[in-house]
Amino acid sequence: MSSAPDTPVAEARADILARIAAAAKAVGRDPASVTLTAVSKKQPDDRVEAALDAGQRVFGENRVQEAEARWGERRDRVPDLELRLVGPLQTNKAEAAVALFDVIETLDRDKLAKALVKASKKTGRTPRLYVQVNTGEEPQKAGVAPGDVVDFVDRMRDEHGLAIEGLMCIPPADEPAAPHFALLAKRAAECGLDKLSMGMSGDYETAVRLGATSVRVGSALFGERPG
Ligand SMILES: *Cc1c(COP(=O)(O)O)cnc(C)c1O
Repeated sequence: MSSAPDTPVAEARADILARIAAAAKAVGRDPASVTLTAVSKKQPDDRVEAALDAGQRVFGENRVQEAEARWGERRDRVPDLELRLVGPLQTNKAEAAVALFDVIETLDRDKLAKALVKASKKTGRTPRLYVQVNTGEEPQKAGVAPGDVVDFVDRMRDEHGLAIEGLMCIPPADEPAAPHFALLAKRAAECGLDKLSMGMSGDYETAVRLGATSVRVGSALFGERPG
């Protein structure tokens, strides 16, 4: 047992939704235009069940296999569930990802686009797609370079026949996030896209003020990830 009890998930969720609504209203946005994605990676099942009980329906996972284990059976129980892949996707897992996820937020290369097209033909499923942008141009991080985004999004449509719903970013951990959120919003506007997946536990209110249409919140909702 941990020394301090975790904030019950339902309470944390109500607080986060209120903060999202306040941040949206502060900049004249409709709170309903922001989706809370509950990032459940590595979280114990009882916390995920508590989130479902509280009415949470949009969940994010960063690994295909872990997500299959967790959601394979739950999916049938929760018909209005929406699953979003927020972690890097290898081409050899594209088919499994397309079969399970409703949204894939980490499209960042042509090879993966081809694998997704093939997987969609095979499974008959077409998840909504976000392009991940490496706003900090960090060498170790996935994502399209900010300067290449417009071309990349055009190519997804023109060469691969893929409709892109929006852009996603994970700012560098050691920098203020706001400039990265602003850059993502700028690139999206240049692409004619109006969906932005940005903001995590520490900065989702900032992200909402800068235009996020979905925020990906893990630890602030569920408590710290064990181990
Ligand atoms: C883990 C993760 C999150 C959630 O992080 P928290 O800081 O726990 O809110 C959001 N987005 C991505 C891509 C992640 O991998």
